Amino acid sequence: MPYRANMWALRALGVRRIFAPCAVGSLTPQLGPGTVVVPDQLVDRTRGRADTYFDSGGIHVEFADPYCPTLRSAVTGLPGVVDGATMVVIQGPRFSTRAESQWFAAAGFQLVNMTGYPEAVLARELEMCYAAIALVTDLDAGVAVGDGVKAVDVYAEFQRHIEPFKKLVQEAIGELAGERSCTHCLTHQGIELPFELP
Ligand SMILES: [Zn+2]
Repeated sequence: MPYRANMWALRALGVRRIFAPCAVGSLTPQLGPGTVVVPDQLVDRTRGRADTYFDSGGIHVEFADPYCPTLRSAVTGLPGVVDGATMVVIQGPRFSTRAESQWFAAAGFQLVNMTGYPEAVLARELEMCYAAIALVTDLDAGVAVGDGVKAVDVYAEFQRHIEPFKKLVQEAIGELAGERSCTHCLTHQGIELPFELP
């Protein structure tokens, strides 16, 4: 996935606020298939992905709270949406083993996904507001009874929920003010960047 090119292109087109819908596995039976969750934390378990635009210059963006609070609150105010979860982003493309899945759950993570990183940090480097909106499609291997996660079941579950999910994202967009007022995601004030942002 060309994450850096995608986020750069969005920024160059004038985009400043991003809702990032994604499919996730759940690491807890409390968040079953069909649940919509707005994560507030992420854990990066990917490897080797290009996750910065600053190949030189020692620029360290703040990332303690990886998602935009303004965008998050536009979604969490909608009915039925679960506010807050830690999403672990794994390298993929394979699903987790049972042991990995149980390890993530024991560590206190609730959701598992393959694409939420480095998108989130690249958005932050480009000073774009970014919030993930996660649709649970399955219980992960260590939580599910039976054979574990199968791609065909994930796609079927995704299909079943995709229309109401799209509607929810549209409603969230409707909750946003016309102009961006967020300062949380503007991290470069006073820092000299090695290049101009697009
Ligand atoms: Zn923001």
